[in-house]
Amino acid sequence: MKSFDALGLSGQLVETIRLMGFESPTPIQEQAIPILLTGNTDLVGLAQTGTGKTAAFGLPLLELIDDSNRSTQALILAPTRELSVQITSDLEKFSAGMKNLSIVTVYGGASISDQIRKIRQGVQIIVATPGRLIDLLSRKVVDLTAIRYVILDEADEMLNMGFKEDIDDILSTMPKQKNVWLFSATMPREVREISKNYMTNPQELTMGERNQGNENIDHQYIVVDDRDKYLALKRFVDYTPDIFGVIFCRTKIDTQKIAEHLIKDGYNADSLHGDLTQMQRDRVMRSFKNKTLQLLVATDVAARGIDVSGITHVIHMNMPDEMEYYTHRSGRTARAGKKGISLAIISKKEIGRIQQVERSLKRKFSKINVPSGDEVCQNKLLALVHKVKQVEVNEEEIDSFLPEVYHELKDLTKEDIIKRFASIEFNRFLEYYRDAKDLNKSEGRATRSYESGSDAGDDQFITGDRIFINVGKMDDLEKGTLLGLICDFGEVTGDVVGKIDLKGAYSFFEVDKKYTEQIMKGFEGVEVRGRKVRLELSGPNKEQYSDKKKERFYGSKKESFGGGSGGERRSGGGDRRSSGGDRRSSGGERKGRGRY
Ligand code: AMP
Repeated sequence: MKSFDALGLSGQLVETIRLMGFESPTPIQEQAIPILLTGNTDLVGLAQTGTGKTAAFGLPLLELIDDSNRSTQALILAPTRELSVQITSDLEKFSAGMKNLSIVTVYGGASISDQIRKIRQGVQIIVATPGRLIDLLSRKVVDLTAIRYVILDEADEMLNMGFKEDIDDILSTMPKQKNVWLFSATMPREVREISKNYMTNPQELTMGERNQGNENIDHQYIVVDDRDKYLALKRFVDYTPDIFGVIFCRTKIDTQKIAEHLIKDGYNADSLHGDLTQMQRDRVMRSFKNKTLQLLVATDVAARGIDVSGITHVIHMNMPDEMEYYTHRSGRTARAGKKGISLAIISKKEIGRIQQVERSLKRKFSKINVPSGDEVCQNKLLALVHKVKQVEVNEEEIDSFLPEVYHELKDLTKEDIIKRFASIEFNRFLEYYRDAKDLNKSEGRATRSYESGSDAGDDQFITGDRIFINVGKMDDLEKGTLLGLICDFGEVTGDVVGKIDLKGAYSFFEVDKKYTEQIMKGFEGVEVRGRKVRLELSGPNKEQYSDKKKERFYGSKKESFGGGSGGERRSGGGDRRSSGGDRRSSGGERKGRGRY
């Protein structure tokens, strides 16, 4: 393994990062730094999260920037506010000795006038989310004519979030004479297109095998009934007292619901999603970072790019539809060489997804069992005993209190005392888990009742409906965004929605029959790009809705989503805002056509 000096970095920079605890470069740093230091190449780096990407581009960038010149020389684009702040903070640490260097972070959801003021003072590096940068460009605050380096970080995620048009706008208005460095955890077609359209003979670096993910992550899953997922989560958390984890849900509603339940049940948990204000998000992230918060329940977008050290577990309350989301989620753990567990709590109908992810990652998932009540109690007890063994005794101060304590306990044997101490904490668990049922389901493949006509034991969907909706890929929808819309307008949680089949101009989704009417009603009068959204029941239950449908879809209520020019989607007259699916960047911005 090389040292940082051998990569061509200056002594000052090497010393700064050494003081930060970086002793030797990570593989991406070892490969990328010498290439980027030449200052005349485009680069595509396919690297998972947590591999040290920021230093891989940040260190050479700092070497190449002319800090005696106040013009803006580098632009770093990142999908979320959190990641932008993280990048700036890393760059500021790396550049501790560079007195004339100025870096500014710009993102939506924060005061634009402060950002404008800072930019006007002259900054060499701008770290931005795409939407806010477009805003600043249109106000002619940012001058990109002297840009020499453009870095697209987590490019796949920016595209997933609908920033394609913004990125095109930004890249096409910049001088040709610049280097573009693109980093991405995955390489879908859209990312390829960016490299084709805006880069010249880029050097390509692939860390590990494509899509293979971080070796240090142990991928596990448990199979339970949908309705038992929360119980399984609790059991798992009780079984793992030292857990420090992120729990991923597909929609904001689910995120909130699970966090609320956990808090009510006495766990140290909080939620992170796009509907929180910036201040709320900052507070949650602060307490998670300093580990006063043990369980962070988050949507995919909100938790994107967070770099918190020591996360032991990533828990998926369901398998995400997109492969990239699984990679991004699990990449929150096992960072900087540590080990971590990615645990999916799935129902039978999701087993197929596990197999797909296994194939794509070329990694085997291990099926584990939900611990039984007895096992949880046993583990809890051992953890308690461990704590007793480890506790630091303040001999001096406790001495004066002890005679009275000894006196109180004098009639009890050592065994009695041990039992009683253990029981203080333990009784609660014993009580709770006394008759705990076995939550495990056998792994036999589920067949979907409403497709095949046979139920394989997945209670949640025994009476499911398949619904046609006249929007699809052509409306820039992804499965996650469509799910979000169903949850928003239908006012349901993600777990009542089954398979989503996204086609060109239309899609199908499956839903627990109990909610069919509610969802159909919820979409009344909704429009996408001036087109009325139409839902139809497909399959055997079709007839019962066909008449009602006509009057519903041509009602007077009018809501619209997508296709706007920069606003958020809101209901026309009411106060029901878009919420599910976390379609907005966590910086509170999302613009243009690419939204859905
Ligand atoms: P990143 O992929 O840039 O988000 O980095 C992931 C984590 O690894 C961050 O906490 C970095 O501070 C840390 N890190 C990056 N490079 C090194 C290195 N060479 N040695 C030790 N830690 C590093």
